[in-house]
Amino acid sequence: MISDKMKKLVKNNSVIREMFEEGKRLEKIYGKDNVFDFSLGNPNVPAPEKVKEAIIEIVKNEDPMFLHGYMSNGGFEDVREKIAKSINKKFYTDFKFNNIIMTVGAASGLNIVLKSILNPKDEVIVFAPYFSEYNNYIHNYDGEPVVVSPNTENFAPDLEEFKTKINSNTKAVIINTPNNPTGVIYSENTIKQLCTVMEDKEKEIGHPIYLISDEPYRELVYEETEVPYITKYYKNTFIVYSYSKSLSLPGERIGYVVIPNELEDSEEMIEAVTISNRIIGSVNAPSLIQRVIPYCLDIQTDIEAYKKNRDLLYSIVTENGFECVKPQGAFYLFVKTPIDDKEFCAIAKKYNLLFVPGSSFACPNYVRIAYCVSYKMIENSKTAFEKLSKELFG
Ligand code: PLP
Repeated sequence: MISDKMKKLVKNNSVIREMFEEGKRLEKIYGKDNVFDFSLGNPNVPAPEKVKEAIIEIVKNEDPMFLHGYMSNGGFEDVREKIAKSINKKFYTDFKFNNIIMTVGAASGLNIVLKSILNPKDEVIVFAPYFSEYNNYIHNYDGEPVVVSPNTENFAPDLEEFKTKINSNTKAVIINTPNNPTGVIYSENTIKQLCTVMEDKEKEIGHPIYLISDEPYRELVYEETEVPYITKYYKNTFIVYSYSKSLSLPGERIGYVVIPNELEDSEEMIEAVTISNRIIGSVNAPSLIQRVIPYCLDIQTDIEAYKKNRDLLYSIVTENGFECVKPQGAFYLFVKTPIDDKEFCAIAKKYNLLFVPGSSFACPNYVRIAYCVSYKMIENSKTAFEKLSKELFG
């Protein structure tokens, strides 16, 4: 019999995954070209050619006993050193290999950080709308998510409400910029203000409040917009990075956590996060794909393809009367719904349009439309959007 805790999790299983399964079911009935599945954030741009070349070269040339063997739980030192140097070059930081811990993607990065810092009932603040898996990750370590309401004007964090949510149980704050589901990037000014609030509150409550910056979309930026590097603004920061989107490798499960020396008791924390990698059962990040990363440090996915998708979808959506903040990054539109978001999704499904309701991101009356799909699918979906608009607005 499954545990009581697991029973709850099975019941609340991700809506996004459910929509994905629904998409596959509809495709069987209507054919692939007639279903417009905008539900999942699965990159549709193939991994850069360099990834394939690197895999072939590594498999041909590396000693298999080394390549496929166990390693330090934090990952290969030479790979971590090269990542540290690449970050230092881009952001004028001063990291060494030991500040970087290789992870099984951002999901695992978040888990090993939370495992290392949370005591039961510790609170972790998140800003709605947010990636709903955070709830599960926080509950994994008996923490409590505390939600700051959405600021639907521009989806920047509501710092006034944020201040009121911090108390002596607050252990961490998670931010995600560029953001899933809004595509919004927090400006340097916003980051500075958020960090000032946290510094003041740290002094008031007398213990660290960690800022966890979840950054799988750091590289997916469409305009000349800077994505501030958070360790430069706040000392108790963890960066959680992933190659799932930047190199289109979500199935390979590779990323890293940055723990700066400035973070309080950093050596002890680095050890704790490294051990967490082992004891959550990941042991270490996958070996072969770790060795690929140094070949691809200056390479990224085809941003132009996503930008083209964004522009087309944004114009279809707005021309049909829907309201939406134009996203600066990531690959999602977050669209206001004139009726309840779940009802909206049910009506959209009649036209084979699949979206994720905003309530699964703690922001009802919106839907997330993922545009990491083919350009052709967006073009073909135009008529379905027109029909949806006609049904809702007449
Ligand atoms: N964080 C956010 C905001 C995401 O959108 C995702 C995946 O979609 C993740 C974390 C997990 O990423 P990964 O595939 O690297 O585990």
